[in-house]
Amino acid sequence: MANKKRYTTAFGIPVDNDQNSKSAGKRGPLLMQDVHLLEKLGHFDRERIPERVVHAKGAGAHGYFEVTGDVSKYTKADFLSKVGKQTEVFARFSTVGGEKGSADAARDPRGFALKFYTEEGNYDMTGNNTPVFFIRDPLKFPDFIHTQKRHPATNCKDADMFWDFLSLTPESVHQVTILFSDRGTPATFRNMNGYSSHTFVWYNDKGEHFYVQYHFKTDQGIKNLDRHQATKMAGEDPDHATRDLYQAIERGEQPSWTLEVQILSPEQAENFGWDIYDITKVWPHSEVPPMEVGKLVLNKNPENYFAEVEQAAFSPGNLVPGITISNDKMLQSRVFSYHDTHIHRLGPNYHLIPVNRPKNSPENSYQRDAFMRTDGNFGGTPNYWPNSFDDTETDPSTAEPVQDLVGQTGRHTIDFPNDDFVQPGNLYRKVMSEQDRENLVGNIADHLSHAQKRIQMRQTALFYKADQDYGTRVAKALGLDVGEVEKLAGMSEEDRVSATAKGTYGS
Ligand code: NDP
Repeated sequence: MANKKRYTTAFGIPVDNDQNSKSAGKRGPLLMQDVHLLEKLGHFDRERIPERVVHAKGAGAHGYFEVTGDVSKYTKADFLSKVGKQTEVFARFSTVGGEKGSADAARDPRGFALKFYTEEGNYDMTGNNTPVFFIRDPLKFPDFIHTQKRHPATNCKDADMFWDFLSLTPESVHQVTILFSDRGTPATFRNMNGYSSHTFVWYNDKGEHFYVQYHFKTDQGIKNLDRHQATKMAGEDPDHATRDLYQAIERGEQPSWTLEVQILSPEQAENFGWDIYDITKVWPHSEVPPMEVGKLVLNKNPENYFAEVEQAAFSPGNLVPGITISNDKMLQSRVFSYHDTHIHRLGPNYHLIPVNRPKNSPENSYQRDAFMRTDGNFGGTPNYWPNSFDDTETDPSTAEPVQDLVGQTGRHTIDFPNDDFVQPGNLYRKVMSEQDRENLVGNIADHLSHAQKRIQMRQTALFYKADQDYGTRVAKALGLDVGEVEKLAGMSEEDRVSATAKGTYGS
């Protein structure tokens, strides 16, 4: 026993035997007084915590962020305040729709979540590997996610529900085009970019504010799987991207990304051709050239997956002075939803879990008690503020700039500019190579062919509206009548929907 550790129960009591349960006689039933067995089974029964409803499958690593470009005139964020400044970071990459055991090679956006442990508290950036999103109003989010998950009756993924919703949601066509390009199946987490997708607001010491979008460009180069490689990979190694990240860091490689930002002044934003709060649009590089800000480097694997990756909790509402949210409706709803999800999944004290703790700016709040308060709960110090005992003060200098708001309350549509087809069309025509276009059309046809014909028609009309050649090629790949697709594409939204309603096209 000299150099060995003593096996104990969770309460530190020595365990006499861990191979044989206590029974009444050699062949008799088990005994209630086998506390070790009861404790062991009881804990095992509760090992799983609720899975994230989205982004369930993921991998993470520790690292740092270093400032390489001076942006201090745009933001007073301390961690961005001077070239050379380094901040500890934890990153988590994920797929979105699949369950915790699903394949890393699935066609899906990839989450790109970062936690910066700044000296002004934790700053979280919860981005994706795509610069846009499927919808721009959060009321549609639960419905959208349901359609990407399992059918309520069959419990199988279902092409009808997947494409029915998207084809009834024309603003999705930009993101659908990116998702069904080979960027929808990145080769690894290291070979993809990360984008804030949302517009954020930066503000400086003078109270001036600016609109910002983040682009984390992979230094490993973009590499994707084509659909045949992705299908093979999903079967052969469903954890390939998780394994790749871990092994690369174990080998001593330090995957990195260069952060570039696009910045608009309020005046520029006012006269901009796109709604800066519409997450289905990008800011064209030619109009808003990206500028380099820093480098994200990952150099340390988690020691324990559950502790550090599964329990990592990010929220776009975790902002530091100098950075705040914009009026992007999707972003505003995520500020609620992420925190709410973590309270459900990890409990109200999830900020005490080491990976989530603000380790470079210790908590000094007046929140107390609740499930799993695992520290000293601030001992006997006051649990209210203001108080005349503990000398804590608030800091008005960290307040964000005030905003003038006008307008009538109501369920408003985002309708400026009312064209969801220009940017996906530009992507197809100007950015993609002929090989990219061929793969895009093949990837779409491979999936959309499983939906009912009326849904195929409705969706292909959206591709046609983005670009005639795009719609024509998808129609041909699906064996649809191109003339009919063209006719649908020329209709109003209402007519297109009724021309493809239930019962049409033999459904
Ligand atoms: P640019 O030609 O200046 O930029 C196009 C960008 O598209 C590239 O810089 C690259 O962004 C990205 N890209 C390259 N190949 C692909 C591909 N196969 N699939 C998806 N994206 C690709 O033109 P614009 O800025 O005017 O944008 C044109 C279109 O490009 C947009 O409508 C949008 O669909 C897409 N795009 C634009 C981005 C932006 O922020 N402006 C970002 C990403 C895509 P990156 O270097 O980030 O990989």
